Amino acid sequence: MTATVFYGSPRQARLEAAESLPAKLDLILDLLHLRDRVKDETVCLKLHVGNNIGYSTIHPIFVRKVVQAIKAGGGKPFIVDVDWDVEGCTARGYTSEVLDCPVYTSAGIDEKYCYTHEWEYKNMKTWKVAGMVEDASFLVNFAHVKGHPSCSFGAAFKNIALGCMVGETRSAIHDTNHYDKYWFKELCPDKSVMQKIVDSCPFGAVVIDRHDAEEMHVHFEPCNQCMRCVRVAPPGSLLIQPVNFHSFMEAMAISTAITLSTFEKEKAVHLALATHMTPMCDCFGFTTMPVTRDAGIFGSDDIVALDKAILDITAQHPLIPENLPTSIEIQPDAGHPFAQIHGRFKDPYVVVRYGEKLGLGSQDYELVDVLPVEDLGPQAKGYYISAK
Ligand code: SF4
Repeated sequence: MTATVFYGSPRQARLEAAESLPAKLDLILDLLHLRDRVKDETVCLKLHVGNNIGYSTIHPIFVRKVVQAIKAGGGKPFIVDVDWDVEGCTARGYTSEVLDCPVYTSAGIDEKYCYTHEWEYKNMKTWKVAGMVEDASFLVNFAHVKGHPSCSFGAAFKNIALGCMVGETRSAIHDTNHYDKYWFKELCPDKSVMQKIVDSCPFGAVVIDRHDAEEMHVHFEPCNQCMRCVRVAPPGSLLIQPVNFHSFMEAMAISTAITLSTFEKEKAVHLALATHMTPMCDCFGFTTMPVTRDAGIFGSDDIVALDKAILDITAQHPLIPENLPTSIEIQPDAGHPFAQIHGRFKDPYVVVRYGEKLGLGSQDYELVDVLPVEDLGPQAKGYYISAK
């Protein structure tokens, strides 16, 4: 079935507030009928409120608009994020006074308030959904789009998959990358060769295991799959292969499926703001320059369609190399621009494909531009307004 994704372009024709992204968010909320759907609902608004001195997360202007739409519809909104991001979020502008609703840690102090679900996947058997999320009757998932070191790209799936689980589950999701064996010590008994493998990686991504000197450990986050280490290693001793990277993305899809299963159908809405997209996620605690041009604002009932649409649009925009940290090695032939930063095996489409397989939505979508940009031409009259 074809899903609908509502889209607001980052471009304006006129210098008018009515054509800006917050105004387009209003149009998207209207088209999603958010107000009509939240009467008497307890609405969890899942945000990433950033960390430390990061400033590229969703500006409170957008968040307040969503909160006020929920209130206008008779819903009772509250905002959640993980405890270490909520702690200190007032310094980044996320206060109940500004946002017009409370901001809570999603699983309470020390992340002990949660519900356990069973789903066997590699190293994982149990998944713990944050209590404040599962207790809500309606979910508004509002994601900021950016890069990510484990999966190259974070948007609607990432905001739920990691952000709605407690720390223990988030760690286990990251550990899925290590489930499939990649080091075969019997093929490399020489310790000096092991050291050469370590020395070959410019990113410090492959190290000798700190608990066992015969084992190697790959930090998959900084690994961009350049294969320098594989060329130094005896054949077959070290494998850098897609399965170790795809595991994280498949686990993200499962995690999302579990959280969404706690809401009735039709009681989850997904929004995403694709501006100031940095190479790393908003947990890093600082903001670097945007690595690609702004792509706009998106909304849908279908999380698969939403992330697919964002990926398809951002795929059309080249990276801005001069905005990338000099320590990042761009790989032009790695596919999607975010994969060019993080490596081809971190194909950002894996999560949407797997999400579709789990029945979370459809990759087949119709993109509806909520306010198509008129081509007024440079000489159009009335383009200028005075600052108020
Ligand atoms: S593939 Fe490249 S980045 Fe990854 S561990 Fe090996 S040398 Fe490092």
